[in-house]
Amino acid sequence: MSFSGPASILTKRAEYFFPATGHFYKNPPQIVKGYMQYLFDQQNKRYTDFYAGVSVMNCGHSNPEITKKTIEQLNDLQHTTTLYLTQPMVELAEKLALILPGDITRTFFCVTGSEANEGAMALARMFTKKQGFIALQGGLHGRTHLTLSVTGIPMWRLDDQLVKEHIYFIDRPYSMEVSQDDAMAQSLAQLELILKEHGENIAAMILEPIQGNGGIVMYPEDYLQKVQALLDAYQVLLIIDEVQTGYGRTGKMFAVEHYGIVPDIIVTAKALGNGIPISTFSTRDEIANAFTKPSASTFGGNPVAAQTALNVLQYIENNRLVEQANVLGDYLKRKLRQIDSPFIQEIRGTGLMIGVQIQSLDPMITSAERTDEILEKIKEVGFLIGKNGLNRDVLALQPPLVITKEDIDDFVSSLEKVLQTL
Ligand code: PMP
Repeated sequence: MSFSGPASILTKRAEYFFPATGHFYKNPPQIVKGYMQYLFDQQNKRYTDFYAGVSVMNCGHSNPEITKKTIEQLNDLQHTTTLYLTQPMVELAEKLALILPGDITRTFFCVTGSEANEGAMALARMFTKKQGFIALQGGLHGRTHLTLSVTGIPMWRLDDQLVKEHIYFIDRPYSMEVSQDDAMAQSLAQLELILKEHGENIAAMILEPIQGNGGIVMYPEDYLQKVQALLDAYQVLLIIDEVQTGYGRTGKMFAVEHYGIVPDIIVTAKALGNGIPISTFSTRDEIANAFTKPSASTFGGNPVAAQTALNVLQYIENNRLVEQANVLGDYLKRKLRQIDSPFIQEIRGTGLMIGVQIQSLDPMITSAERTDEILEKIKEVGFLIGKNGLNRDVLALQPPLVITKEDIDDFVSSLEKVLQTL
């Protein structure tokens, strides 16, 4: 196959995509091939992928063990209405009931994370017969009207009058300026106040167990227990958005397990299909009974996606990827902490979901510009990493869980060298 090259792709994007469509890098490579933790550009230059399409490719790119069975399924039965009886979808639902926390045993299949969050919120409304939602500053939940409106990152949020009066934001229990205890106390006090004033009209609170786009932010260990106790007192449901954190990424199958609670509704997507679109929202019997409006999604849980997801879960199990994320995540964090650089302000996260907070140290350069400089320079030496955070100044390290210690060693020594050149 011949490749048009990055310049031609950039020109066509500028002409045919929406103008706000983003990309990383001043000189982005054209990615033409993937294999496990590696990506290759049009000149066959190899990059180790430390971003994994924002935690999508937990089992690695074009993992042959998984794609082989996806192709078999494609050849056998590609799609039919999910209203007919097919086996992969029901096997997947049964498997999810086994691995999801607590009494969450019923699953509705969709295609994207946004769609599943939207479905979870519709379900919360149908069950509680209430309207409003509480969300966290710094959270991100998708691209549909409602999910854009509960997104707590100003640059991505839709501040729309149509739903605004039903949405309440509280601070996240994290701040670089105050202690964790103070940040948590403030967040809980805000939650309690909103519940007291509007609880009778709020259906659910939605939040990520670890904020991804908000800059890889974990909460104090007992935060979610306290949140849940408050919500329960006002019959407000808790929706946990595991779209970015689910399926082993954080060193647990689901990140909510770090906090020892079982939410009312749990949403997953991305890594479940390892590149084939599939998403879910799941809940317990009592709540599922209330979901009476749409009975299925056209492509949600289709045979190809469901069979792929089954193979993804089997691969995660067979290769102990959850433990792997834990062990390698600790190793990566330890190695990052050994880097002696004034540009690193903080290292956060757990498992293979790690954020490195960058500071500029030069009043003429913003921390976001510093971060871009690092992304660009480390790409040149063969590593693709992400960036996120409210100021776009956090390096996002979320590699496929099939990465090796050697990849991590190479990455950390390259990062150290790049930081020395700034
Ligand atoms: N929730 C979270 C936590 C996400 O990170 C994302 C995507 N970055 C979404 C929801 C939206 O998922 P999708 O793009 O599949 O609609």
